[in-house]
Amino acid sequence: MKSDLWITEKQTEDLAISFRVKKTLHEEQTDFQHLALVDTYEFGRMLFLDNCVMTSIKDEFVYHEMISLVALNTHPNPEHVLVIGGGDGGAIREIVKHPKVKTATLVEIDGRVIETSKEYLPEIAAAFDNPKVTVLVDDGIKHIQENKNKYDVILVDSTDPVGPAVGLFASDFYKNVYDALREDGIMVAQSESPFMHQDLIKGIHNDLKHIFPLVKLYLAAIPTYPTGLWSFTLASKKHDPQKVNPEDIADTNTRYYNKNIHFAAFVLPNFAAEIFK
Ligand code: SAM
Repeated sequence: MKSDLWITEKQTEDLAISFRVKKTLHEEQTDFQHLALVDTYEFGRMLFLDNCVMTSIKDEFVYHEMISLVALNTHPNPEHVLVIGGGDGGAIREIVKHPKVKTATLVEIDGRVIETSKEYLPEIAAAFDNPKVTVLVDDGIKHIQENKNKYDVILVDSTDPVGPAVGLFASDFYKNVYDALREDGIMVAQSESPFMHQDLIKGIHNDLKHIFPLVKLYLAAIPTYPTGLWSFTLASKKHDPQKVNPEDIADTNTRYYNKNIHFAAFVLPNFAAEIFK
């Protein structure tokens, strides 16, 4: 007999997604948010923060490969990489596989996300012990203010723009990201759904356009996130992701990202391209 327990993310006043829960693995109120780890029938083990889906064992590879590898394969020499947020460790796992990466730094505000991911999502939190990795439990906004001209690639793997993540979507933060990048650095931020969050995507794009010479949106299909279609915004000081030589794209044993997806992800459906008109 299947359980009658369901976990629900209320995505708007009028829309919700529910997953039937096999077992609740862990639940706590951290200093920053409500954290739940549950095993679900359809998507396997899942991490929820403040009742929002963060990741699932079944579809996590799409998000973690796509937030990391597009920028890593656009930068000719991505030696020093920073992840802000991303305490589940999935982005870090993808980054350390890239042959040119020498250091990968994670700045996550909530240490409990890291600890519980290691315990309940070991496939995702698989690279925290890698010698390239430094983990800092701190506010990413502060870290960015304090570090200048240091990173080749910065990934903003944040929660939705509420609570401690609000500042990760602000123009001042993006200016500090620009300064924390070296002279040909690249940043990528997860930028929510093109079906539901057009104003947010447009705002991020406009803010970044004032700071970086090149700003581009790309998409990926992520079934557990609101509407299933997700966007990422890439901002670059110099290198254009659409001008990469496909031969230079590293093969890091991926399940979603590949040489064709690298370019195809930037081809926007008309309704998404219209967000910027
Ligand atoms: N893949 C996810 C998504 O889009 O739903 C994001 C996952 S990751 C777990 C997001 C992390 O960002 C959370 O663990 C949260 O604690 C962290 N975070 C939020 N605000 C932060 C800040 N100001 N500095 C560092 N980390 C922050």
